[in-house]
Amino acid sequence: MHRLKPLPAFLQQRYQGWKATSYAENAAWYKRLATEGQRPRCMVISCCDSRVHVTSIFGADQGEFFIHRNIANLVPPYEPDGDHHGTSAAVEYAVTVLQVAHLIVLGHSQCGGVKGCLEMCKGLAPELEGPDSFVGRWMDILRPKYDAVKDIADAEAQQRMLERMAVQTSVENLFTFPFIEKRHAEGSLSLHGLWLDIGEGTLEAYQPVMGEFQPV
Ligand SMILES: [Zn+2]
Repeated sequence: MHRLKPLPAFLQQRYQGWKATSYAENAAWYKRLATEGQRPRCMVISCCDSRVHVTSIFGADQGEFFIHRNIANLVPPYEPDGDHHGTSAAVEYAVTVLQVAHLIVLGHSQCGGVKGCLEMCKGLAPELEGPDSFVGRWMDILRPKYDAVKDIADAEAQQRMLERMAVQTSVENLFTFPFIEKRHAEGSLSLHGLWLDIGEGTLEAYQPVMGEFQPV
């Protein structure tokens, strides 16, 4: 049995601060969320990156955003193979049970996952190649898109293009889930692909019909 340490003091203090202010001031609202359950309007799939602060950008209240984060905001294709699929499970729950109205993929600049994928594709990251690299095998989802960026000479431009392609890939793969395709066709679910420039604070939206990203 592993012995776990107490929560660090700075986190205990922040928790106490939250309980005494934000929670105390909205206790009735929290109790209502607890008894009535959640009815989030949007699901957001973003990167784990600590600089991508979804609720800071969109200012969501408690109960409003159903958020799933993973390396490089990737959605795998629909694969009903009986294996462990965390991202697909989150998507399934949000769309079929919670019935969210909006499904948003949020990519970003300086993405470490996408950088790793690029290095892997260039043969510069042998540590990501083996079956024991969960990051490497996860980034295989994006790997086929390398062909489209391999001739971009400028390294930064190349990475930014592949980051956008990670968003594009996720949106494409979301449409392979039958329950998403169905609700989208009915008009009860909207899909969005966004890319955030962390340093500039600019947000771009993906439009599959044009095949490009436009400023929001
Ligand atoms: Zn990232």
